[in-house]
Amino acid sequence: MEREIVTVPHPVLRKKARPVTKFDGRFQKLVDDMIETMRAAPGVGLAAPQVNVLQQVIVVEYGEDEDSPPQLYVLANPRILSTSTETEVGVEGCLSIPGWVGEVERPLSIEVRGQNRYGNPVRYRLSGWVARIFQHEIDHLHGVLFTDRALRVWQPEEPVPDNV
Ligand SMILES: [Zn+2]
Repeated sequence: MEREIVTVPHPVLRKKARPVTKFDGRFQKLVDDMIETMRAAPGVGLAAPQVNVLQQVIVVEYGEDEDSPPQLYVLANPRILSTSTETEVGVEGCLSIPGWVGEVERPLSIEVRGQNRYGNPVRYRLSGWVARIFQHEIDHLHGVLFTDRALRVWQPEEPVPDNV
């Protein structure tokens, strides 16, 4: 079931999400709903606070190029273990801040750990745009928006393709 994406200035976007402790049927439904909502938006990432749920879970679906199918990630209780010293400036948009984009400098690569949708531990090394998506979504779990980090923000005439 598609859920409503909340937008600024909804206060839930500024709150800290709680760790997921029960990987039960209700949680599976939340994950399925988040995937459906992300795809319908359309977007390449979504964090639970964006559908008004204060739980630490994100979904990301992204393919590096057109030849490879997009990979779907579901990550609960994510923790960034390490980041590269090398950074990159990229233009980000957010499904919760419609109409705006911003230039954000972030580490190029990260190592992240957490749990999959069944509660099993997982760990990923990510680089490039998918690493940026993860950092953007994990920020959402801490009440941080890209506009807090942006070097500058503006309203583009054309919508950006990769909203998160
Ligand atoms: Zn966002």
